[in-house]
Amino acid sequence: MIIGVPKESLSDSRVALVPESVKKLVRLSFEVVIEKGAGERAFFSDEEYAAAGAKIASDSAAVWNSDIVLKVAPPEGADFGQLKTGAVFAGFLAPLADPTRVQKLNDRKVTAIAMELVPRTTRAQSMDALSSQANVGGYKAVLLAAGKLGKYFPMLTTAAGTVPPAKVLIIGAGVAGLQAIATARRLGAVVEAYDVRPEVKEQVQSLGAKYVEADLGESGAGTGGYAKELSDEAKVKLQQALADRVAASDVVITTAQVPGKKAPRIITVQMLNRMKPGSVVVDMAAGQGGNVEGSAPDTEVQVGGVLLLGPTNLPSTTPTHASQLYSRNLLALLEYLAPKGAWKLDLTDPIMSECVVCHAGEIRNTRVKAALSSYIV
Ligand code: NAD
Repeated sequence: MIIGVPKESLSDSRVALVPESVKKLVRLSFEVVIEKGAGERAFFSDEEYAAAGAKIASDSAAVWNSDIVLKVAPPEGADFGQLKTGAVFAGFLAPLADPTRVQKLNDRKVTAIAMELVPRTTRAQSMDALSSQANVGGYKAVLLAAGKLGKYFPMLTTAAGTVPPAKVLIIGAGVAGLQAIATARRLGAVVEAYDVRPEVKEQVQSLGAKYVEADLGESGAGTGGYAKELSDEAKVKLQQALADRVAASDVVITTAQVPGKKAPRIITVQMLNRMKPGSVVVDMAAGQGGNVEGSAPDTEVQVGGVLLLGPTNLPSTTPTHASQLYSRNLLALLEYLAPKGAWKLDLTDPIMSECVVCHAGEIRNTRVKAALSSYIV
């Protein structure tokens, strides 16, 4: 089978496969075609791909015409029409936010694998692209905040006196949040963190952060290690419980998310107004509606003396490692689907039944089906 890797649009610096994975796929008897310059912005040259056994195509149509097309960002515009009937597409599709893409892929009878729907189970861990990229995002959010803060992160004792450490609050301690905690700690900040799922308390503490307790009168724990949506009363209690912690922080990073829902609104403008001038807030959920009132996707907003950032594609700003990890996720997926090179798609498999959103002209994922019907209405 031929695997095609198109060049991403200018808004994403990542590439779906890196040379290291190409080599392994060629060994599994796949042919790999890479669009000329596809790895350039992630610092992988055409020469490295060729040395790994890939063909370099200057014509993007030749890449899109492959049996399997691997991408990072969802296809757009003319891309859909370039996929051949019966082809396999794997990449991020944001299928719940915009299910019309799945419809377009289904119209072409493409087998589409939405990488964000790979379940977060032990068996699927090596294919979990949402986690690999959220990890990069959590790391970069802290660096972004550190770069904008007018203060040191670590405590420093110098000849000119002692500087206290920065106080960092992380809200949401899932994959991105835990990496944000670890990164802020490595930089020497004093870190506090809160999550509605009390079971993460130990993980927060093991990273050297203090767990913020909040009595909401209900549990925020949902199923499968995810949170559930809070009642309106609990949301208000949460804002009250976090208000003092936010006010005392130099940096706040929010990563709170309930799968399939708009991001919960946790920080209000009143809470921001109590922060010290020069404080920095990074809303990692700005692209999903925002955890912070006033945040805007990919825009710097000044709320009084507080700088509010809403970056939506942090993994793309660390393209080499984000691509390498994503590429390994895709390699694991293909090794799973084609052990020893023989393609075998089992739609009843617990992993595939979640992430194969359409196949042979049928939309298979019930959440996507529901999203599509409400989208059309
Ligand atoms: P995750 O599901 O692993 O973590 C989200 C955490 O938020 C969970 O631990 C959950 O319990 C917690 N949570 C839910 N509601 C909460 C509430 N009301 N208060 C406190 N905690 C709450 O998700 P993730 O992979 O870590 O991603 C986190 C967010 O970051 C998502 O919105 C994701 O889309 C976004 N993200 C953004 C970028 C970027 O570049 N901006 C990159 C990667 C991920």
